[in-house]
Amino acid sequence: MKDLKPTHQAQTLFPCVDGCLQVGGVPITRLAQRVGSTPFYAYDRALLTQRVAHLRGHMPAGMRLHYSIKANPMAALVQHMAGLVDGLDVASGGELKIALDSGVQGADISFAGPGKTVVELAQAVASGACIVVESAGEIERLACIADQLGIRARVMVRVNPDFELKYSGLRMGGGAKPFGIDAEMVPHCLERIAQLHFNFLGFHLFSGSQSLNADAIIDSHCKAVELACRLAAAAPQQPRALNLGGGLGIAYFAGETALDLTPIGDNLRRLMADVARQLPSAQVAIELGRYLVGEAGVYVARIVDKKISRGKTFLVSNGGLHHHLAASGNFGQVIRKNYPVVIGNKMGETARETCTVVGPLCTPLDIIADNVALPPAEVDDLVVVFQSGAYGMTASPIHFLGHPVALEVLV
Ligand SMILES: *Cc1c(COP(=O)(O)O)cnc(C)c1O
Repeated sequence: MKDLKPTHQAQTLFPCVDGCLQVGGVPITRLAQRVGSTPFYAYDRALLTQRVAHLRGHMPAGMRLHYSIKANPMAALVQHMAGLVDGLDVASGGELKIALDSGVQGADISFAGPGKTVVELAQAVASGACIVVESAGEIERLACIADQLGIRARVMVRVNPDFELKYSGLRMGGGAKPFGIDAEMVPHCLERIAQLHFNFLGFHLFSGSQSLNADAIIDSHCKAVELACRLAAAAPQQPRALNLGGGLGIAYFAGETALDLTPIGDNLRRLMADVARQLPSAQVAIELGRYLVGEAGVYVARIVDKKISRGKTFLVSNGGLHHHLAASGNFGQVIRKNYPVVIGNKMGETARETCTVVGPLCTPLDIIADNVALPPAEVDDLVVVFQSGAYGMTASPIHFLGHPVALEVLV
């Protein structure tokens, strides 16, 4: 077992029956037959529901919860989430369509993201969605379009704060950023917004993603509320909405521990009281992607070859980075680490063989799990990658090397 990489804690969200992992109550082998082909992504409906309930159980009453659909825009999943959350956040015209198709009203959709095209802005205005403006230029373009359409645009200002989320995987705020309007420029933009015929709703602050550090998240929530209260003084009207963004991470790698929601929820409860005093008209929202859906999904691939090269055992599967870039370590990781991986049809067996699971692509980057202990696996066994419900298929280069795309099922 030399070269063995650190081992993950046992994954317990998905039950095992007779040595077979179950998703949505269906054994993974049966699910593969039902889907008809491998690889595929499977998302567990009940786990999604449980996750939202778990989060709501810790969050203050009256705080809105939005789902950020870029984490997983599969239509059936978005539809399911739409029934559980208070709003959807989209980041393109394509996502706006998915959100509207799910039955959510434009009024409960917000559209953030840099570089919105005039077509996307027009679609958003026409739908009644809230447009989260990200630059001075975008404010002018939006004003023009709203005038042409004769609709009063609903607008929030995304603030690029003068702080950042410490220890987060992806920093989205602080310093020079393509996201949001620099905090010091916001008062000037608010003056301009007051001159235009906008329906100004409030502020959006989002400083980073994939944080497992509760203290850092608490710190960024506190600073975000403080900054919003300060900026509100320059607003054309009392803010009616304050979106604190996302940032809650999930544990992907060995040694990471799941986020403790209790202190985050307690702090938000205190902040809600501050907001009620200082910005009495504002509804507070958080918008989460990964935290809501990431743990509820698995990626399943079939082993098509087993080979030994100079003493090292390789399991070659039909799935890889073309469907699951993140698990291959090529989506924002600096040092490659393994996602939790099992042989889904051999859950009862001891992990006593050290092997490396790779995909079918002709590139050394196509690794699913490097030097992990697994039960001795054979051709036709099913490799299952956990923590795959967010930033999976749609964050992957599916055309690279021309392999079939993976199907997605909600079970
Ligand atoms: C990506 C994104 C999110 C969701 O981030 P997660 O880390 O998946 O929770 C929320 N808000 C905005 C504006 C985003 O761009």
